[in-house]
Amino acid sequence: MKAIGSRENRYCTDVNHSITKALVEHYGRNTLFVLEDLSNVRSVTKKVFIKDRYVSASWSYQFRQLLEYKASMKQSLVITVPPQYTSQMSPKCGHIDKSNRNKKLHLFCCKNCGYQSNDNRIGAMNLFKKGLNYIEEHSKEVAE
Ligand SMILES: [Zn+2]
Repeated sequence: MKAIGSRENRYCTDVNHSITKALVEHYGRNTLFVLEDLSNVRSVTKKVFIKDRYVSASWSYQFRQLLEYKASMKQSLVITVPPQYTSQMSPKCGHIDKSNRNKKLHLFCCKNCGYQSNDNRIGAMNLFKKGLNYIEEHSKEVAE
């Protein structure tokens, strides 16, 4: 089990390196990357690795560290936001409801405004919004 564990670790490190490299190269300079802070989310880390929660927790932490390092070389920035409601909030009207999301079907349907889409796409839209909010807040600081 120990041998399998370290092989998985190396595999994940390789994958993390490739993905973070591809992201930074694809988006280029002056990019804001918005990640969900998953360090306290048990259900998510369980999905990544079936048995070893510690490994999977450090896997997402390593991804973040690698991305932060590579992004900083390109004058880019990585921020993390709390994952609460990211996939439960309607990006159209802001209505938050657990039942907006059907996890099994990967379908999001807002109980308030009827907006529908893939649930992961909804999550991405909400993260994008949080990124825009961050930029807006910080450009105010610079202007003052
Ligand atoms: Zn809505």
